[in-house]
Amino acid sequence: VIELGTPERSVITTCAYCGVGCSFKAELNGDQLVRMVPYKHGKANRGHSCVKGRFAYGYAQHKDRILKPMIRETIDQPWREVEWAEAMAFAAARLKGIQEKYGRKSVGVITSSRCTNEETYLVQKLTRAVFGNNNTDTCARVCHSPTGYGLGKTYGTSAGTQDFDSVEAADVVVVIGANPTDGHPVFASRLKKRLRQGAKLIVVDPRRTDIVRSAHIEAAYHLPLKPGTNVAVVTAMAHVIVTEGLFDEDFIRTRCDWDEFQFYVDFVSDPRHAPENVELLTGVPAADLRAAARLYATGGNGAIYYGLGVTEHSQGSTTVIGIANLAMLTGNIGRPGVGVNPLRGQNNVQGSCDMGSFPHELPGYRHVKMPDVRAIYEAAWNCEIDPEPGLRIPNMLDAAVEGTFKGLYCQGEDILQSDPDTKHVAAGLAAMECVIVHDLFLNETANYAHVFLPGSTFLEKDGTFTNAERRINRVRKVMAPRNGYEDWEVTQLLANAMGANWHYTHPRQIMEEIAATTPSFAGVTYEVLEEKGSVQWPCNATVPDGTPLMHVDGFVSGKGHFMVTEYVATDERTGPRFPLLLTTGRILAHYNVGAQTRRTENVAWHPEDVLEINPHDAEFRGIKDGDWVRLASRAGETTLRAVLTDRVAAGVVYTTFHHPSTQANVVTTDFSDWATNCPEFKVTAVQVSPSNGP
Ligand code: SF4
Repeated sequence: VIELGTPERSVITTCAYCGVGCSFKAELNGDQLVRMVPYKHGKANRGHSCVKGRFAYGYAQHKDRILKPMIRETIDQPWREVEWAEAMAFAAARLKGIQEKYGRKSVGVITSSRCTNEETYLVQKLTRAVFGNNNTDTCARVCHSPTGYGLGKTYGTSAGTQDFDSVEAADVVVVIGANPTDGHPVFASRLKKRLRQGAKLIVVDPRRTDIVRSAHIEAAYHLPLKPGTNVAVVTAMAHVIVTEGLFDEDFIRTRCDWDEFQFYVDFVSDPRHAPENVELLTGVPAADLRAAARLYATGGNGAIYYGLGVTEHSQGSTTVIGIANLAMLTGNIGRPGVGVNPLRGQNNVQGSCDMGSFPHELPGYRHVKMPDVRAIYEAAWNCEIDPEPGLRIPNMLDAAVEGTFKGLYCQGEDILQSDPDTKHVAAGLAAMECVIVHDLFLNETANYAHVFLPGSTFLEKDGTFTNAERRINRVRKVMAPRNGYEDWEVTQLLANAMGANWHYTHPRQIMEEIAATTPSFAGVTYEVLEEKGSVQWPCNATVPDGTPLMHVDGFVSGKGHFMVTEYVATDERTGPRFPLLLTTGRILAHYNVGAQTRRTENVAWHPEDVLEINPHDAEFRGIKDGDWVRLASRAGETTLRAVLTDRVAAGVVYTTFHHPSTQANVVTTDFSDWATNCPEFKVTAVQVSPSNGP
């Protein structure tokens, strides 16, 4: 903590890291930020925080911040600092020239879940109303897009069903493919408290994460499945529940489509889904899987929390559907202590999806093909909206390599470091004629940029973030933007340089427009947020105080929909050349690609990415703890240090992607979820061998 005397004033704002959305009191002396104190009235955190959020704000003042716009004709030239007006004129001329030459669909936008709701709304509006296409996507593409698909199909909306308070009423908690201790620490504390009170824990994860066994906590069951077999495991759990008659027939008859349920029963009852028959495939002992399914179905209130270990697979959407099936089967929906809860990685993953930053959806998860929905925005924006869905991030890169996609505005996202198959990302960027990077630092993607627009930190802007429990929290400006403009203003400058006539003067006006056009946000205003502190959507005339629990009396879709979940093996296979399976994740000290946390004291706790390898696999290869190793896949190779640990089973290795020097995503492949193109970060066939270092 930097102590610079007694604070003169304070501003309540929201952490810009993970999806818990902790409230903080930023204390200042004059314009100097003295410290960040967890806010005791914050509804998501109740006065708690983690070390990442509390101490990792120093990047705002870091010397690496770029504060002036920069342009260059070609990416082999040096950057030239210019005034904002020149940068905008340069960017707009390039984009317009590209559209004249290659068509209006040759440009697009990638936005970040770090951005506020208001910024995200403006970026998709820029794409639709100014660029004239739907080529707008968000980094949620590479994390929770399968949640949008799976929960949308089964329950009718892409949202976690519970608030965080709900965990206090859970009797059985299933954590699937999530590591809340590192990824969502404040929620993890609340979960652990409930576990210490006696709630039972089931963990489904290839790694023995901290939550499996820590102080006073021992999971009832840890199902250490082989990476890529989630669908087989959740379907086997459903098999046990159905064939042993443990399902909640009353709930299903009243709340779900009965015909679909009958069809599902026929599918899931097949003996091929029995735990004993998938044991070899999944690596999970059948007795444990059967017992875990019984516990979830009969142990009282059952709550499921899941993360990117579910979604970042070729069958990510199928697993989300399988999880939704489990909750409907057991009637674990619509009351405290139950539900299906995606743990969102970044601060505003939920909000970026809510705000229509997907190429097929307008704000509020309404398809662009719906004429009545398009009409709402065409009237509000005075434009015509393309009824055809646009390109997803991987499609943009493919189209760039093929020569049909030429211009990109990339806001708050370092796709060269964060997205899979780095070589392919680089080839796509290199083929474009205009790449605009809007960010705090010269990131890896900026190596391929023609325009760099300086971004503002969360401390320098007003707006809102929506956390993993659909809670809309205010972000309040603590200090003036060092770069001169808040990010929503930069997007407005670009829109107007392209010919628009936007004249927002404060993000509250953007929220008013969101509320006027999006039914689930109809009751959300800055005045309401000031009065209540925060509010959970849906918030409108029917539910003016917001909605802590979803699907209480009925699903958003009316009836809940059971869907079959057939396991299909990933195309990524191990073999003699690549015999191990790599899975990737995050660590407490760092936030995503580390652009912010590497520029704080956090870096001292985790100065490099390492490779976790089981001692048996290491010994077989002559690798000792701390040795340099070469990690190679079909996509590429990198070098990093080995850590020998039985946290990973034999046959599995694990690393993080917080440091650009490691370039972990050079190794990951371009396989992706069948429904959403979410990359399969969690399954890569690799070889590990001794190395002399980078
Ligand atoms: Fe809270 Fe997450 Fe920020 Fe930590 S990183 S303070 S848990 S919002």
